[in-house]
Amino acid sequence: MKKITFITLFASLMAMAVSCSSDNSADNFKWQIDSFDDVKVLRYKVHGFEELPLQQKELVYYLNQAALWGRDIMFDQNFKYNLAIRRTLEAIYTTYNGDKECAEWKSFEKYLKKVWFANGIHHHYGNDKFAPEFSEAYFNALVEGSNADLFPSEAFGSKEGLLATITPIIFDATLYPSRLVQAGVDDVLKASSMNYYEGLTQSEAEAFYAGMAAINDPRPISYGLNSKLVKKNGRIYEQTYKVGGMYSAALEQICYWLEKAAGVAEEPQKSTILKLVEYYKTGNLRLFDEFNIAWTEDTASHVDFVNGFTEDYGDPLGRKGAWESIVNFKSLEASRRTELISDNAQWFEDHAPINPAFRKSEVKGVSAKVITAATLAGDAYPATPIGINLPNADWIRKEHGSKSVTIDNITEAYAESGKGSGFDEEFVLRKEDRERIKEFGSIGDNLHTDIHECLGHGSGQLAPGVKGGELGKYSSTLEEARADLFGLYYLGDDKLVELGLVPSFDVAKAQYAEYIMNGMMTQFSRIELGKDVVESHMQNRKLIAEWCYEQGKADNVIEWIVKDGKRYVVVNDFEKLRELFGKMLYEVQRIKSEGDFEAGKALVENYAVKIDPELHKEVLERYASLGIKPYSGFINPIYTLVEEDGKVVDVKIEYRESYIEQMLYYSANYSNLPTLN
Ligand code: ZN
Repeated sequence: MKKITFITLFASLMAMAVSCSSDNSADNFKWQIDSFDDVKVLRYKVHGFEELPLQQKELVYYLNQAALWGRDIMFDQNFKYNLAIRRTLEAIYTTYNGDKECAEWKSFEKYLKKVWFANGIHHHYGNDKFAPEFSEAYFNALVEGSNADLFPSEAFGSKEGLLATITPIIFDATLYPSRLVQAGVDDVLKASSMNYYEGLTQSEAEAFYAGMAAINDPRPISYGLNSKLVKKNGRIYEQTYKVGGMYSAALEQICYWLEKAAGVAEEPQKSTILKLVEYYKTGNLRLFDEFNIAWTEDTASHVDFVNGFTEDYGDPLGRKGAWESIVNFKSLEASRRTELISDNAQWFEDHAPINPAFRKSEVKGVSAKVITAATLAGDAYPATPIGINLPNADWIRKEHGSKSVTIDNITEAYAESGKGSGFDEEFVLRKEDRERIKEFGSIGDNLHTDIHECLGHGSGQLAPGVKGGELGKYSSTLEEARADLFGLYYLGDDKLVELGLVPSFDVAKAQYAEYIMNGMMTQFSRIELGKDVVESHMQNRKLIAEWCYEQGKADNVIEWIVKDGKRYVVVNDFEKLRELFGKMLYEVQRIKSEGDFEAGKALVENYAVKIDPELHKEVLERYASLGIKPYSGFINPIYTLVEEDGKVVDVKIEYRESYIEQMLYYSANYSNLPTLN
């Protein structure tokens, strides 16, 4: 019986993979549409959109509009002067009447492409400010040759005022050098140029929020999630993101399109969408919690969405939510995979290698599905995650569960566009590892993401009296490590074979080899030489890999090998490595459950931050020689309502824009925020 389950499921997954790639080659779908600096821009394919019933297509369309209107918010949240700079650059780009073939113009265009990609002038991942490859004198000449009427001068009193503000910001490397600094400085707010705080110190901000949550409130709202904290004339107050408050113009449009969406949605989704609108209109975070509960409990709606101030990774204090939206619908075939996992959630929780006191005695409604993304926006655009688990509030997750998704058409685009890059040949030393990665790499990646999102983040519980904010700036990294370890540990469990999700331990071997190599080596391709690892997911991977390397040293579990002058990292003992994942999960769960700040800090600072400069240099050189871009992002398809006699009869989907066209179109049609907010 069990074997049949496996063969059926595994065969259908493989068949799906094959049919995807064959129907893509049939219509010459081009995955990669642009490439610049360290980035490639891809398209994703919205499988099954044409087959949706009209009502669901319409719902996708309205949610798509609600998503696109949030783009300016993300620019402004990232940095106060981003909109001023973007609008000036775009005015130049579209009206400059001089030579557009010379090298400096190309450098200018590249800079603008980078600003679009990062939703601002700081790198979307590394957070450092971009250095323009054109001179200030050239910039001044561009300004002179362009239509100044289109410059966002009004916010600065005059064109001169605008330029006097933004020119030094663009060209002086010492001004606003980083969007996000979380370690190694006295005051993380002072060192970070994100726009979530203004005019106050880290300790003032911490003190402002410290007293807010009532000590024994079991259901605290996410204090500070939807506001900017400002100190003016000696007074500290929140500017709330809401209709009538900060970002009102964009939020009004978002509400307008959400109401349209509610107009075609069925219950309970209709009420859920209207709850979100009510929250945007009031800024009341209790309503946001109510929305999240209704959203989490609605597992039946085929079309679904994320829309809101959501992830706090861009705030050095881990409190403010970056605006994002993802519109999607369920991929029925692939969802069988995650349904199997979530149906067994309690079994995984009961057998987790953690202190039984920190296991959830009753895992509440972990719903997991595989989705097809239809629109990406805000913080999720153009660079986007491949899996999501929401909502973020701990008490909602505990009482109502969470919704976990894996985005298969994004994973597909990554895999398709990466084919034939020569990466495995360059970095994977052993033939048997390369063969396993080729055969089981995708299924291992997908399952690891499924378990990370569906079970990992939702697992475990806090010790009595622990509130959940104790780990401070180390919390994101440790939380990602906890979810990754849960996934890595269970990927090698017999239970997955029994459930028919994998054929054998070989899938885990493929994933372990890739994971360790990435954590200790290849992921450094994304970091500039001399810099530390700062992003939480990257820190987490390094932390796990380095900790296991050290712990397994006596048994040579993981080994560095030098061959022909090149360094390789290999796993010698996969079973022992799995034991180490379990051992580490035990400790990381303990740290979270007990709120042990010092132990968490020690783990992150010792294993996750510093890179060996020689190794770093080697990785960058080997990457460069392959011409592989370390980052990818995506443009969206275009949706158009087809109307006959004033009635919607269809929604058309097209994949025809270039990257530049899409960015200019969004700026021209979905940009109504003031230049300074
Ligand atoms: Zn995660």
